[in-house]
Formats: sequence, C-alpha cells, structure tokens
Amino acid sequence: MNLVILLEEELAGNGMAVIRDPRRVTHIQDILRATPGEQIRAGLLNGRTGEGKIVSSSPEMLELQVEFSAEPPPVLPLTLILALPRPKTYRKVLQAATAMGVKKFIVIESWKVDKSYWNSPVLSGEETREQFMLGLEQARDTVLPEISFKRRFKPFVEDELPGIIQGRLPLLAHPDAFNACPRNVAGPVVLCVGPEGGFTDYEVALLEKNGMRPVSIGARILRTEFAVCALLGKIF
Ligand code: SAM
Repeated sequence: MNLVILLEEELAGNGMAVIRDPRRVTHIQDILRATPGEQIRAGLLNGRTGEGKIVSSSPEMLELQVEFSAEPPPVLPLTLILALPRPKTYRKVLQAATAMGVKKFIVIESWKVDKSYWNSPVLSGEETREQFMLGLEQARDTVLPEISFKRRFKPFVEDELPGIIQGRLPLLAHPDAFNACPRNVAGPVVLCVGPEGGFTDYEVALLEKNGMRPVSIGARILRTEFAVCALLGKIF
C-alpha cells in the first residue's frame, strides 16, 4: 500500500480522519510500521493526494491529521475491452491495469469464455471494487475506474464498438496478427484483449469489420495478465 485511500465518510472535520477498517489499520501498523507522529502518504477517494500524520493508533482504529495538496497521477487514455478471463486472472488484470492508470474497462463475452465465469462472485461490485482499490493503493492513485459488462458479443461489436472507437486508435491484441503493436502512441486508444483460448476466426473477422486493427507483440503468447501489462508498456 503506497497510498492510504480515505473515504469521504472517514473525514471527521478539522483536517482529521478516522480509519476503522481492519485491513488498512493492520497494514499501516504492521507493514508500514507507522506510529503516532509519523507521516504516511494519504489520498481522498476520487480526490487529491497528500499526507496523513498519525495522531493516535490502537488495534481498532487510527486517527490521522490529513492534508491533500496534489493531483493524482495522470490517467492512461485507454479503454480496455477484455474478454472475461477466469476469476483469478480477472482479479489480477483489474488490479494491474488499474495500477497502470486504466480508468475504463469493458468486459465482454466471447466464444471461448467459460460460461461459468459469469456466475463467479469476483464479478460482484464489492470484489471488483476491492481489486480497483488495491491497484489504486499500489500506484498512489485515487480515481476509481468504471467497468461495464457486455454479455452478447455480436450486438456489442456491431452496435456499440463503432461508437466507442471513434476518435481513438482501435487495437485488437492478437498473437497471429501481421502488424506489430504501435509504440508511444500519443492519443487515446481502445485495446481489446482476448480470452484465454483466444478469439475465434469469426470473432476476429467481426472485430476487424467493425474497425479494430489486429496487432501483435511478438511470437510468444503471454498469459492475459502479462499480455495486458506488456501491451500497455508498448502502447504508451
Ligand atoms: N491461445 C490463445 C491465442 O492464440 O490467441 C492465447 C490467448 S492469450 C492467453 C490471451 C490474450 O492475450 C490473447 O487473446 C491476446 O489478446 C493477448 N495476447 C497474448 N499474447 C499476445 C501476443 N504475443 N500478441 C498480442 N496479443 C497477445
């Protein structure tokens, strides 16, 4: 945790804040080993970042004097369209991409997505938000990403995708693509990443027909969570 993110309701007035949530209290006490009088990095959810001076500390709660003076880090101008991966991978991708600055996720159905994944509790708002918070805390960011789920591939690709990619560079990450993934792109990008079994030929063709450009980052096929990070590292 490189930034302790406070919620609006934890602000107590007069620049004071109180944290009672055991995860953050324990982390600050046992991992950061911060004691009264010490400063830790703190930020306000969806707001500015700054410092928090520990005023009091007990196993149940921490009292901080906070001052938020800086803007959170710049946003990555990327919309990540992700074919729903297995739950463990979903967590990893969300957390890593959030840490890298992604603010817009669209999770889609595709032929090789195991249908049972859609019933996984990891997709609940609470678990998804937890991954976002872990990514934000890692990267000293405060701004929660947005996520939406599209259960029907064809209507999404034909009816919604053309609008989403307007004014953005539309990249389809595909290991077999002839073209190399562009580097150091300056403008906004839509990146589409396939499921663990890959997109079918039909899906690749439909995505291409609706504006996506297949690109590869090389002959080595990477696991989804590593592919997303490698792609973002190349593109930006
Ligand atoms: N067997 C699948 C295939 O051949 O497409 C592998 C899928 S991979 C585990 C999951 C996704 O990561 C792919 O659909 C693609 O979007 C992305 N990916 C992985 N390696 C890649 C590479 N070398 N170039 C471009 N995209 C890659």
